[in-house]
Amino acid sequence: MMSRPDCPGCGSTTLSAPFRLPRQPVVLNYRFRDAQAASRVPRHDVTLVQCRRCGLVFNATFDPSLIPYDENYENRQCFSAAFGTHLETLAKALTARNRLQHGRILEVGCGKGDFLRLLCGIASAQGEGYDTSYEPGPKAEPPGLSFHRRYVSATDVTRPFDTVICRHVVEHVPEIGVFLRDLHAIAVAAGDPVVVLETPRFEWIVEQLSLWDVFYEHCNYFPTASLAHLCRLAGFRVLRHRSVFGGQYQALELKLARTRRTPRAPGIPAKARLTSFAKLAQKHLDRLTQRFTKARNGRGWAVWGAGAKGVALVNLLRSKPACVVDSNPAKQGGMLPGTKIPIVAPEDPRLARLGLIVIANPNYAAEIRAVLDQRGFTGRTLTL
Ligand SMILES: [Zn+2]
Repeated sequence: MMSRPDCPGCGSTTLSAPFRLPRQPVVLNYRFRDAQAASRVPRHDVTLVQCRRCGLVFNATFDPSLIPYDENYENRQCFSAAFGTHLETLAKALTARNRLQHGRILEVGCGKGDFLRLLCGIASAQGEGYDTSYEPGPKAEPPGLSFHRRYVSATDVTRPFDTVICRHVVEHVPEIGVFLRDLHAIAVAAGDPVVVLETPRFEWIVEQLSLWDVFYEHCNYFPTASLAHLCRLAGFRVLRHRSVFGGQYQALELKLARTRRTPRAPGIPAKARLTSFAKLAQKHLDRLTQRFTKARNGRGWAVWGAGAKGVALVNLLRSKPACVVDSNPAKQGGMLPGTKIPIVAPEDPRLARLGLIVIANPNYAAEIRAVLDQRGFTGRTLTL
C-alpha cells in the first residue's frame, strides 16, 4: 500500500522519516472462538510518521476497511476495578463541573454503551449513544437512554445537548481533521455543549518506550500539544486539558471558539518525538524479553490482559506465553488474535503452575496482585 504523503490532521506534507512495524495483526479487540481463525488474523505493516507541523503521529499505510467494527469488536475494560474507578471519577467530575444533573448527553462512539449508562445513572440524565459496535444487552435499556448502531452526523442532532462525549474514538479515525470538523458541526447543532475527548497520550508511550501501545487499530497518536492544536484548527477552544489514568490518557473539554483565527502550529517537544521513540523502543523490548526468560525460571508463563496492550505485546515477542488471563468474560474461552494462545479466566487452575505472570498495564498491577495473592500464586509477577 502507498504511504500517505500528507498529514490527516493539518494537511502538511512535511513529515518525519517512517518507523515501520512489519506485519502487525489488524484487529486486537475482536472475539475469536477458535485457534485457526485467531492465528489467521490479517496482518499489515504499521508505518508511523510524524507531521513536522502539528506533531501528529499517524500510520501512513493505514487501511480502515481491514478493521471490522461490528458486534464482535470487544474492547470493554469495565471488568477491572481500576478502570471502573477511572470511569466513575470521570463521570462524577463531568456531572459536577458541567451541571449535567437531569441534562441531555450525546456520546459519539459509545461502544457497548457502558460509560453512557454509568454517566446517565450518576447524573439522572438522558443519553443518546451512537456506535457501529453497539449490541443490545439481555436487559432493556433504562428509560431516557437510547442507542443507535451507526455513525452520527450533525443532521441527527435536532435538539440541544448539555454535553457531547467522545472517548477513545479519535485514535481510530483516519481522516482526523475531517472528523474534528464534523464534531464541531455536531457541537453547533447541539447548541454549544461541552465536548469531552479522551484518548491515549503519546508522551506516555515515549516515556515508557511501550512498543505494545502501538496497534494497527490506532491510526493516530496524539502528543498533547498536537491534539489541542487540531481541536483549535477545527474551530474549538480548549477549556481544560489534563493527563488522566496514571498519565496514559489525556482528557480535553472543549467549547466552540468565539472567533475563527488560525492557531499557530505547536512544534514538537523532545518528549513527543517519534524519532527518539523509534530508536529506543526495540532495544527496550529486547531487554524485557531477557528479563522474562530469567524471571520465569524454566516454568511456563502468562500475560495478564487480553486488551490491545496484551495482544500487541504477545505478537511482538518471539517466545510466547502459555496463556493470557483476562477478567472480561466475553474474552475468556477465546483465542488471542494473531496467535493460538487461549484466553483464560483469573480462576483458571493452570495459573498455579506458572513461574511468571507479566502484567500488561501498570494501572491494574495492584488489583491483579491482590487476586493472585488470594489464589496462592507462588510465581513472580513483572509489570511492564
Ligand atoms: Zn499535521
